[in-house]
Amino acid sequence: MTCNYIEEIDHLWQRQLTKWDAVIKNYGYLANVTTRVVELGDSSIVLQYNPERLKSSSADIDYASLKARPCFLCDKNQPKEQETVMWEGRYKMQVNPYPIFSRHLTISALEHSPQRIDGRITDMMHLAKDLPGYVVFYNGPRCGASAPDHMHFQAGSIDELPICDELFTANTALFDANNRGIFGVITELGRPVFYIETMSIDLGEQWFNSLQDVLPVKNGHVEPMINILCWHNSGALCIAVFPRRKHRPACYGTGEDQFVLSPASVDMGGLWAIAREEDFNNLTLHDITLIYMDVCLSPQDVEDVSTKLRQYYYSKR
Ligand SMILES: [Zn+2]
Repeated sequence: MTCNYIEEIDHLWQRQLTKWDAVIKNYGYLANVTTRVVELGDSSIVLQYNPERLKSSSADIDYASLKARPCFLCDKNQPKEQETVMWEGRYKMQVNPYPIFSRHLTISALEHSPQRIDGRITDMMHLAKDLPGYVVFYNGPRCGASAPDHMHFQAGSIDELPICDELFTANTALFDANNRGIFGVITELGRPVFYIETMSIDLGEQWFNSLQDVLPVKNGHVEPMINILCWHNSGALCIAVFPRRKHRPACYGTGEDQFVLSPASVDMGGLWAIAREEDFNNLTLHDITLIYMDVCLSPQDVEDVSTKLRQYYYSKR
């Protein structure tokens, strides 16, 4: 029997939004949150003033800091009010008490195991299928995940993330295409994005794995630095992979002309949750452009990866 997860999640919202004080307060705040929009070419960037995110955007994720803190995704450390909807007996879906979206879920593995995408992209696609109206996202262990020691996805209301619509109409330079989908790269939205749109979970997995195989992996890292968005639209699964070279931009900090920003999947998707009021007020189109250029893979590296993928799929024809 297939489970109607979206119905279970709707019930979870109703319960948590009436019984859990932190959730009532923080989602109440978000309902009236101050935003402004900056146009970056054909892409809209929504800036959201969200002080509750300070902990997340300034979190220490070095080994010693992680070791010293209780893991907030492990059952034993979670607030007693926090409820769970189980997914396939392997992940727990929960309301995120520090939201960026009007509906924001954390989807974490049951066991305390490191943040890795290897072998989990099909989970991500199935989750996206089971959660219509949501975009599921993954932050690499060094690309914005605030709990890199505990495997987790998140999910948020899809209509609040601008890039999901923009990708449908953007120019895609294709590596491979057939009657089941397309796979290519989009470079016109101010940050490079590898894009898959397919009716087939198997094909989506193959294409994603071929990308993962050719993305550069830095010394000391266990996987390429990436942020991933995955959602379901009219029968097609869409996967957007943002290749990264840095966790934090050079302008990270609290001094003059600096910003407390650690871009992650949601920021790559065009929604920037900004914790400090002065950052929210001061950030310009120029700053946004520079931050994307600074933390994303360089145009030359994107071209090298694209050439490898084109050659690989051309040789298979
Ligand atoms: Zn844990």
